[in-house]
Parts: sequence; C-alpha cells; structure tokens
Amino acid sequence: MDVKVKKIRGTRDILPEEASLWSEVEGKIREVCRVYGFGEIRVPTFEETSLFIKTTGETTDIVEKQMYTFEDKGGRSLTLKPEGTPSVVRAYLENALFQRGKKTKLFYIERMFRQERPQKGRYREFTQFGVELIGSKSPLSDAEIISLAFTLFEKIGVKDITLRINSIGCFRCRGPFRDALKEYLKSKLPELCPDCKRRFERNPLRVLDCKEDKEKLKDAPRSTDYLCDNCKKHWKRLISVLEKLKIPFLVDHMLVRGLDYYTGPVFEFVSGKLGAQDAVGGGGRYDELIESMGGEPTPATGFAIGLDRLVMLVEKKKEERIPLWIVNIGEEAEEAGFLLMEKLRRMGVRVEMDLTGRSLKAQFREADKRNAKYVLVIGEDEIRKNKGKLKDMETGKEEEIELDEEKIKERVC
Ligand code: AMP
Repeated sequence: MDVKVKKIRGTRDILPEEASLWSEVEGKIREVCRVYGFGEIRVPTFEETSLFIKTTGETTDIVEKQMYTFEDKGGRSLTLKPEGTPSVVRAYLENALFQRGKKTKLFYIERMFRQERPQKGRYREFTQFGVELIGSKSPLSDAEIISLAFTLFEKIGVKDITLRINSIGCFRCRGPFRDALKEYLKSKLPELCPDCKRRFERNPLRVLDCKEDKEKLKDAPRSTDYLCDNCKKHWKRLISVLEKLKIPFLVDHMLVRGLDYYTGPVFEFVSGKLGAQDAVGGGGRYDELIESMGGEPTPATGFAIGLDRLVMLVEKKKEERIPLWIVNIGEEAEEAGFLLMEKLRRMGVRVEMDLTGRSLKAQFREADKRNAKYVLVIGEDEIRKNKGKLKDMETGKEEEIELDEEKIKERVC
C-alpha cells in the first residue's frame, strides 16, 4: 500500500504490544520514585531557545547541531526541549520550589527532540525518565540517585548494566585540567577527526568523549588527577559508598559527558546488549547551574535514562489470555451477545466478540488465534432458552450456562 503521508524521519509509532511494555516500565518508575521520595514534574514541550544556550552550553553538540528551533508567529525563538534538566531547573526557580524545603527531589518522564542521525536506539523524538535532586552537596545524594536507577533496573528485570563513572571536578579544578589536556592534545591534533579539531579550540574536554578518537587518546591526562581537595574528598567518598552498595562500576577517565553544566562526578549506565548506542542513561552533578540561572547557590545532581533504549532491554511477557470470547449467530444474537459483553466489561472482565458479521467458523478461528480461554456461543435458540454454550478451548469440553453475567464471570475468571 502506498501511504500518502509518512511519519517524519527519526520518529516512530509505538504499537500496542510495545506500548504495554512502556506502561509497565513507566509504572515501575513511578513506584521506585515514590519509594525514593521523588515527586513528578511535567514541564512544557518547548521553551525559549536561550534557556538551552545558557545552560546546556553554546559549544555542545546538542545546541550547535541538534536543536529543533523555530520562530513562532510572535517572532520569538523557541526550541523543542532536547533535554530535561534546564526546564526542570527553570521550573524549580520560577515556582520557587526552594521555599518548600532545603532539598527538592523531582522526576520526569518527558519527550525530547534532537535532530541526530537516526539509527537503532537513536531517534529524533524520544522519551527520557530523569531525576533531579536539588539542594544537597553530599556524595550520598549522587549515590542515592545512582542506587535509585539500579533499583529500577532490578525491578524491571534489566540485568548487566554497568555504571561508568568519572569526576571532571568543579569549575575551579577544571582550569588546570583543561590546560594540561590542551597541551597534550596539541601534539595529537593532526591525527584527530575534524570534529575534534574544532572541539580542541572551543571545548577541549569533549575530545575525550569522541568515539572515533578514543583509542588514540588513551594516555591523555586524567581529570581525577587535577581535583581540588573538596572534589577529591567527594569523589573518594562516592566511590567508597558505591562499593558498599555493591553497585557494579567502572572508573572511565575518558567520560566527560557533553554538557557544560556538569561539575564533579559524571556517569553513564551502559548495557552490552544495545549495540553501538550502548548508553541507557547518564548524568552527573551540576552545582553551579542554579546560581547561573539566577537562583541562590544550590548544589544538585541528576540523571536521564532513555526509555526507548530501556524498553528494548525489557523482556516481553507472554500476552495474558483473554478469558472469554463471545461467538454469535444472527443479528439478534449479535445484539444479545454485545449487551452481555458490555455488562461483563463493566464488571472488569476482558471479553471480545466479532462485530463484522463473520461466519461461525471464522469467529472461532479468531478466538483461537487470540488465545481465548472460553468461547460462549449464542444463537437464536440460546436466547430463547436464556442459555449459551460455553466451550473450554483447552479441553474442548462444552457445557450449558445461563446467560447471566454474574454466573458467567464466576465460571470464566
Ligand atoms: P544524554 O543526556 O544525551 O546522555 O541522554 C541520556 C540518555 O537518553 C541516553 O543514554 C539515551 O538512553 C537517551 N537518548 C539520548 N539521545 C537519544 C536519542 N536521540 N534517541 C533515543 N534515546 C536517546
């Protein structure tokens, strides 16, 4: 068939079988977040473009290359949000959530938009579950959100996730590290990819993140060697607590994460089962962001997990059997069957029937295909006697049953 209008490249339709996995995962997210004391926040789909330029950072890939930015009819520059943290922090400040207590714990499940090259696990519209823990500078807060993520992975049966973690230090220790890195990169410059050559001038830390050049930069200076006393203490304590929590982690000195606002620990959750796009999520501490957006100096930490990728890792469950399928013969029986079906549905019983006037055989075939446990046959005769034939699809046994919703429910559920 030649569909006249097709979906936009990089977007996707999530069909019922997959959508039910999504709702299950979303349900577990809400459950885990409740246990950890995180409240849900829903933020707008689009924001003023300047929000992302000022926070995510002008020289990041997201802002430079990937944003869906447009001018609205009022001449304002707006952007479909490419990530959640800037919007959540804006909402935190705009709604004065800081007045409600020293610590604010928020989570979101939101659609994001980035104009990236689409491939498996990478879309132009995707969904992220994210948490933001605002108001605590303790490494235990970083451990708390990491632990939350691992509790979720366990709850949804996703195994073999590794945490890759590094500390890029605060803005004060970043200077000496950036200088040392630039000095090192100078000699490597001719070998680097064109993107990294550009990054070298504007955002040298990002060179470490480049998949293409990773191998060539193995002996690059390590950010953890340049940490100030505070950052070093924070880093050591976090690592020690993660060990105590028995969270599997790997210190990855090349991990810097792409965004400007990170300070201190940064991390990613990685799965070996995802192929090239192996990161399920990532995050880090951003102690300077809130002040830079006009708030009081407020430390914070957070992460975002991509649900498109997470759902790919969840094993599909066998579809639950439909308890009852009503097969009807003739118009009168069709209506009687329909009314009975609606009564049963109002009582919470899953019932299906065919309303397209198909033959008895075709209706049975459909009931079988949909794995119905029982089939109830209603014809004119059955209506007259107020008794239908109930067939157990597994044993093939048939019995008569009164056409009474209570009795039918009791028998099939
Ligand atoms: P990031 O903050 O860019 O590291 O994103 C965090 C997580 O969101 C990633 O680990 C992915 O799981 C997910 N994600 C990011 N970009 C995309 C995309 N274009 N398509 C699907 N998922 C994405």
